[in-house]
Amino acid sequence: MKNIIVCLMPGATFDKPTAGLLAAARGLQPQLTIIVPGIVSDDTTAALAGQADNVICASDDGLDEYQPEIVLGVLQSVCSDLNPDIVLLSNDTYSQEIAPRLAGRLGGVSAGDAQSLSLDGDNLRITRSVYGGKAIATVELRATPAVVWVRAHSFAGLDAKDAPGTIEQRSITVEGDAAKHLGATNIVERHAESSGEVRLEDAAVIVSGGRGLGGPEPFEQLKDLADAMKAQQAASRAACDAGWVPPHWQVGQTGKKVAPELYVAIAISGASQHLMGIADAKVITAINTDADAPIFKHCQFGLVEDYKAVVGPLTEKLKTLLS
Ligand SMILES: Cc1cc2nc3c(=O)[nH]c(=O)nc-3n(C[C@H](O)[C@H](O)[C@H](O)COP(=O)(O)OP(=O)(O)OC[C@H]3O[C@@H](n4cnc5c(N)ncnc54)[C@H](O)[C@@H]3O)c2cc1C
Repeated sequence: MKNIIVCLMPGATFDKPTAGLLAAARGLQPQLTIIVPGIVSDDTTAALAGQADNVICASDDGLDEYQPEIVLGVLQSVCSDLNPDIVLLSNDTYSQEIAPRLAGRLGGVSAGDAQSLSLDGDNLRITRSVYGGKAIATVELRATPAVVWVRAHSFAGLDAKDAPGTIEQRSITVEGDAAKHLGATNIVERHAESSGEVRLEDAAVIVSGGRGLGGPEPFEQLKDLADAMKAQQAASRAACDAGWVPPHWQVGQTGKKVAPELYVAIAISGASQHLMGIADAKVITAINTDADAPIFKHCQFGLVEDYKAVVGPLTEKLKTLLS
């Protein structure tokens, strides 16, 4: 049996990515431990205990919010104590930042963007997309601990186990080796996404715009469409880089990986790097003037048309149908 640990981030809840991450871990073996740094609600702790043998809530005075060095110090302390074979983290930006550094501190190895996990004898194997999604690589991690961040949305959550695991509160003081880097980096400012906005990773419907919109104003028009569909708005990197919409709207290889029921790509060509972010979308639709745009090879429904001729009437029709 392997010693498998799942590390969550401060402020964790039992949301879709957490459920997916735990399903990935339980797919390897049912026995696992979860470490949650910082303060967690009782409901979240109870839901986590339904998925694991042991939940360790590791508190430190500085852990009200994510601070990389403190999170690392706490995870390093607890992991060193537990001596894991495998450590799994999610694919949020914090986990992606922590995973390789944690592996370094624990003397292990790291890989990321796992879409599947399996054991080959003693070694953990993962698969992940490479070359902009054109090929799948299998990576074998031949040292321990193997610290891997997982594309959590690729896994469907599992029901709670019959018997819930134990819940342990640990008060951690980061010291010794783990304290060496405290203060090396600090988050000095945070900009919260506007309240009420669903995280793109959790959105059921996404209306996304690309460079073909030609500027920031058409995104207002797309907002009406998104509102009519109760959807979140997103964008290609080209639109984000142009400053038309905020950077956190970006979907793709270097942006968010989303998994909505419906993804509406408007004036987006469908570059491989964009497609990597929507590989887990159930249904993709596209509106594009170019019938040869790559997005049409990857969507279930496509319309070769100028968005200006479509978005207004579509919005009005949906308002009538869905009101
Ligand atoms: C290392 C690396 C990482 C990257 N990461 C990402 C990433 O995370 N996400 C990402 O999106 N990109 C990423 N890119 C960039 C990617 O390669 C593309 O450049 C980008 O996705 C293009 O964005 P776009 O589709 O909006 O623009 P374009 O490729 O310029 O496409 C615009 C589309 O709009 C259509 N159009 C024009 N006018 C209209 C109209 N009136 N009505 C309807 N359609 C119209 C055009 O036919 C065209 O297909 C990355 C690139 C690199 C090298």
